Amino acid sequence: MASDVILETRGLTKEFRGFVAVRDVSLRVKRGSIHALIGPNGAGKTTVFNLLTKFLQPSNGNILFNGRDITAVKPADVARLGIIRSFQISAVFPHLTVLENVRVGLQRPLGNSFQFWKSESVLDRLNGRAMELLEDVGLAGYAHRPAAELPYGRKRALEIATTLALEPEMLLLDEPMAGMGHEDIDRIAALIKRVSANRTILMVEHNLSVVSNLSDWITVLARGEVLAEGPYAEVSRHPKVREAYMGS
Ligand code: ADP
Repeated sequence: MASDVILETRGLTKEFRGFVAVRDVSLRVKRGSIHALIGPNGAGKTTVFNLLTKFLQPSNGNILFNGRDITAVKPADVARLGIIRSFQISAVFPHLTVLENVRVGLQRPLGNSFQFWKSESVLDRLNGRAMELLEDVGLAGYAHRPAAELPYGRKRALEIATTLALEPEMLLLDEPMAGMGHEDIDRIAALIKRVSANRTILMVEHNLSVVSNLSDWITVLARGEVLAEGPYAEVSRHPKVREAYMGS
């Protein structure tokens, strides 16, 4: 049986020319959970994401995914193994339609054989699957509109649909609620919850009410170190966490 821990870091450390941005961070992310990484600005959250996706190489420590040590694996291989990151800055092709944006994501796992996916039956299949994904994220009604016309919150939903096209086992969400109003926040939160039904989610998010509603487990970072971890009710009462957030 697969272990209940899908992703683990052991003593993860990243130094930038003598400055330790991430120090001895050991995370255990449970399979199927929504796990939030929170902490004040400069805590090291983005650096941890960059280490997990291998945009950065750790100075020390190990990363294990499904029990396999992926510390030395290249970024493209991390994605191939099933860890996909959705970016904070909208990574949507504005001139393509909403449907085409998702299709681009679907084409990638099929490889680069242009001839292959140009064939009509393959294209039909891709369009069908892209439409299903758009239905999942509530964007079916926008399928044939240029992505540039989508309101901001819908663009984030499209971004999630594009990452889902890659069939990730684990999704890393970088501030999914950044810059959103209440309505969009509620819609994206419901979407994240739905999406989490058959995959693991690790997210960096500043909106603590979203974090408290969605997360099964929270790791609080401050100055590169793990300050506390546990369910929201527990970590939010932790004196060190209150101090890091309120400065009191
Ligand atoms: P967070 O995402 O929690 O706001 P970051 O991971 O972006 O924090 O940054 C953690 C610390 O590491 C900050 O003090 C930041 O200035 C520093 N840092 C991040 N990236 C680099 C880099 N490439 N070179 C030097 N220092 C960096």
